[in-house]
Amino acid sequence: MQYYQPQTLIYHDGKFVSASATQIDLFGQSLHYGFAAFEGIRAYQTDNGTRIFKAKEHYLRLQKSCELVGLPYPYDTQDLINASYELLQVNKLKDAYIRPLVYADANMTLIAPQESKLMIAAWEWGAYLGNKQIKVGISPFQRPNPKSTFIEAKISGHYVNSILATTHAKRHGYDEALLLDANGFVAEAPGANIFMEKDGKLFTPALGNILPGITRSTIMDIAHRLDIPVFEAAITPAELKAADAAFFCGTAVEIIGIHTIDDHVFKARWADTLGATIASAYKNLVLEKENFEVII
Ligand code: PMP
Repeated sequence: MQYYQPQTLIYHDGKFVSASATQIDLFGQSLHYGFAAFEGIRAYQTDNGTRIFKAKEHYLRLQKSCELVGLPYPYDTQDLINASYELLQVNKLKDAYIRPLVYADANMTLIAPQESKLMIAAWEWGAYLGNKQIKVGISPFQRPNPKSTFIEAKISGHYVNSILATTHAKRHGYDEALLLDANGFVAEAPGANIFMEKDGKLFTPALGNILPGITRSTIMDIAHRLDIPVFEAAITPAELKAADAAFFCGTAVEIIGIHTIDDHVFKARWADTLGATIASAYKNLVLEKENFEVII
């Protein structure tokens, strides 16, 4: 996968500069210790032009992630949204994935830095896990204990846990992993949240051990609009396997149905599930279709 071409520009320290000519310091604290915060945002080509979905929510989460861990964040949300639109324009991107990263420069200590840098990159990226139902394996890796970090922050270092889980899952023949929390309850995927459907209702793990996904909360809004009951609850792996259906959701994966968890096959046909209904409404919403909740 090529993330940039010779002519690609990124937004770095307030300027649009060449992606291939930009250098970072090999003594960076972020590189050595994973002390950085980032976002994953999508822009869609809609009937109203290219629109960045939930741009404000993503940049506010970036700010919150930085504030929680003590990465300086001297940025204005609207300025960053404007810069993101400009970035799409200068790179002639319409449907794109946008990746802001706040990072620390040279600093080999374990003390939060006095200054940070920000870069925003964008590239074309299809649905991260494709659009067929996936095989999921419950991971031997747990999500980080929320008492060991700010699990609600999107911090680079947390993604070592994600890489371990996904790599292990793929080596064992699965498309993706599902991680449990430190108490053995269902938490989330390495880069997505999870919902399960049981008897016409949706259930999703409560906040506390997971990243509060923007897609997760969008789905909860859509479900309310569609009169689908949603509950935030502690879910055991056995309860998940006894569900009618389940799906992962996130900016990169969008909404993707789960075919199997370990050896267990879900009963319902994906097309007949609440997840499929919500996936259509989600697609309409990101594309700014009027009456997005009306599924035809
Ligand atoms: N959990 C984790 C660990 C993630 O990395 C992501 C992707 N950001 C999500 C959940 C989904 O979050 P969102 O819907 O905001 O993209």
